[in-house]
Amino acid sequence: MRKIPMLDLQLEYEYMRDNIDTAIKRCLEHQKWILGPEVKELEDKIAQYIGVKHSIGVASGTDALVLSLRALAIKLKGQEYFDKTDEIITTPFTFIATGDVILRAGATPVFVDINPQTYNIDPDKIREYLKNSNPSKVVGMIPVHLYGQACKMDKIMEIAKEYDLFVVEDVAQAFGGMWKDKKLGSIGITGCFSFFPSKNLGGFGDGGMVSTNDDEIAELVRMLRVHGGRDKYNANHIGYKARLDTLQAAILLAKFKYIDEFNERRRKIAEVYNRELSELNDITLPVESSNSYHVYHQYTIRVKNGKRDELKNYLKERGIDTMVYYPLPLHKMKIFNNGRAKISGKCSNAEEVTQSVLSLPIEPLQDEETTMYIIGTIKGFFGIT
Ligand SMILES: *Cc1c(COP(=O)(O)O)cnc(C)c1O
Repeated sequence: MRKIPMLDLQLEYEYMRDNIDTAIKRCLEHQKWILGPEVKELEDKIAQYIGVKHSIGVASGTDALVLSLRALAIKLKGQEYFDKTDEIITTPFTFIATGDVILRAGATPVFVDINPQTYNIDPDKIREYLKNSNPSKVVGMIPVHLYGQACKMDKIMEIAKEYDLFVVEDVAQAFGGMWKDKKLGSIGITGCFSFFPSKNLGGFGDGGMVSTNDDEIAELVRMLRVHGGRDKYNANHIGYKARLDTLQAAILLAKFKYIDEFNERRRKIAEVYNRELSELNDITLPVESSNSYHVYHQYTIRVKNGKRDELKNYLKERGIDTMVYYPLPLHKMKIFNNGRAKISGKCSNAEEVTQSVLSLPIEPLQDEETTMYIIGTIKGFFGIT
């Protein structure tokens, strides 16, 4: 039986093997494992690519978010952490980290529902929350560009300006994605990237990056990633050990050369899925919203009539892997569902989509024949030949 994984990292390695092997060998020769030359080189390349003044390599996407929030608490409040009464608005339909970093920074998450077409936080619902609550408690927002699709950044930045809120972009799934002519991660006060192996720019282990145009935030994040000090043996803040590894930076530099090509390949696969699956009334296809350059970190459909799990199993039995991102909205998790988070309204869109979403394989190097095989199998499930 054919086996089709969600991603084929082995295949990607073969595709760029010489570049990666050379990069690793260079590290073996210089032995500068901590904040070696590759970290700076990657930071400069990515800052230029995203179109920001600074980019700072950190140990994971989660750390990018934590360090951003901690730096903001220091800059805006003159204290190490936010207070519990400080609220940060985000989406309940995301990876755990987006919400737990708010708790780690001392603040209270407020979950605001998504738009079920784009899967991203709904700016009108953010406004609704601000109107119906005490808006002076809200300090910021973390929009997540889920699956590679940009949030409605004009509306979000307009709200931010009106209510004097910071915006930290969670770009973990959208490296290279754009809102209008701006790269994601260049619009908010910071952009937080993840280089987890399965992300669309992924290393061979954990890694992350903070992008910003703000000199003070950049300096604070640089301090927080190394114990909170400017000097090696003197600390100013409660810091972390959260540096990007030299070895990961070297591998990422090699893989970075392919990012635009790979994002384009993802978009082509998405086009084939869109074209071929559009006749099926039992599924809802993803949309690329206007002004968004979608990089399809995930190609996610919604399956109607409660048939998601049945379809998932059917594909599994035929060798095709799929994933449910995400089976549980954050506000239903124990960590948040205990009085340490607030929910604006019911978040019923987020709850509904957790029951119906299904992400299909979108390996950038997947050939059209493979994509057609997946499509044929899905059509088979619905009795269409
Ligand atoms: C992966 C991910 C993160 C966390 O990144 P790590 O590198 O795994 O720590 C945060 N937010 C979203 C939306 C993610 O997908």
